[in-house]
Amino acid sequence: MNQEHWNNIYEMVSAKPIINAIGSVTMLGGSTPIPEVKRAMDLADSSYVPLVELEEKAGKFLAEFIGVPAAYITSGAGSALTLAAAAIMAGDDDQLIEQLPNTHGMKNEILIQKKHRYWYDRCLEASGAKLIMFGSEQKTTEKDLEEAIGPQTAGVHFTMYEQNPDPDALSLEKTIEIAHSHKLPVLVDAAGQIYPLENFGKYVKMGADFQCIAAKYLGASQSSGLALGTEEMIRKISKQSFVGYEGRRIRGIGRPHKVDRQEMMGVVAAVQNWLTINHETRLSNIEKQSMTLINILSSCPYIEASLIENIIGHQPFGVKIKIINHKFTVHDIVNKLKNGTPSIWTRVVGENNFIEIHMFGLKTDEEKIVGEKILEIFE
Ligand SMILES: *Cc1c(COP(=O)(O)O)cnc(C)c1O
Repeated sequence: MNQEHWNNIYEMVSAKPIINAIGSVTMLGGSTPIPEVKRAMDLADSSYVPLVELEEKAGKFLAEFIGVPAAYITSGAGSALTLAAAAIMAGDDDQLIEQLPNTHGMKNEILIQKKHRYWYDRCLEASGAKLIMFGSEQKTTEKDLEEAIGPQTAGVHFTMYEQNPDPDALSLEKTIEIAHSHKLPVLVDAAGQIYPLENFGKYVKMGADFQCIAAKYLGASQSSGLALGTEEMIRKISKQSFVGYEGRRIRGIGRPHKVDRQEMMGVVAAVQNWLTINHETRLSNIEKQSMTLINILSSCPYIEASLIENIIGHQPFGVKIKIINHKFTVHDIVNKLKNGTPSIWTRVVGENNFIEIHMFGLKTDEEKIVGEKILEIFE
């Protein structure tokens, strides 16, 4: 049915497109570049440009636009984390830069609250750094951090999820205060902290040395991202750059983190767009799409569908679907949708007893297809 509006480019290699009702996830493609980004990328095709200069100039432009001291475009937020970890270990020393990921002779420990361990902290380790945990699963105190700091400490990592604040974690304010009193840098993963707009760059403004942002959430290519930070931090990150292989004849670990000139200009366009569009319209459209799905599902006695109210971060609203009085589990529904035609991808996050649908990857009216296909399963 729905194949018509799908570009058949994927057929050439016998790959099957799907409907993405999960949201911005890397395994399904992460993002669809918006027209403004595609236009910028097309224009960037028109000529070659020295990339050392473009990295620097585009970073400067973005830093001024965002209101932070410095910025650097990376091949994703994960890349920004790896390069930042390398930067706090090797600093400006070209010999150490060429030695990584072997950290011999360097401070190589990055402290992270036990409560803040998360899926992407592996990106920090990719630099050669070691993660050292402090605090317990229940709580982190100032003393926990003070006691964890030692002669091998290179910096402190902070995982930011403002949509899900944890009162028992050590706050970013305290983390910065304690780390800086020991002259240690603070890294913040704020990949999805792009709304409210004041959060875009906020952690650096609060005093963190670095925060990353995933450009996949901004309508740029999912293979791009941003490091924001102090001038010192961003200078050290840029010394790890893939361009260093030719530009400075220094082989940092950043070589496999290549970014096209097209992607760089795409990120510039994505940030410009994000910081100037009308977010009330954006949010109201996503809320409407979510309500359309809820209304379709309301006719089914086996489903309890409700609106997710969150608007903080990269994924506002969405729909929570519970199964009631029926033998099907949420996992049965996820599988049936995936194996149907068209294939619809949804997910149950962690141990949750509900399916979580997000509009990010749904084109206009695809939420209706999702709703109808769910109803069909129960018919
Ligand atoms: C998506 C994401 C990342 C990884 O970003 P990429 O740009 O995909 O490398 C890291 N941290 C968080 C919190 C994310 O949501």
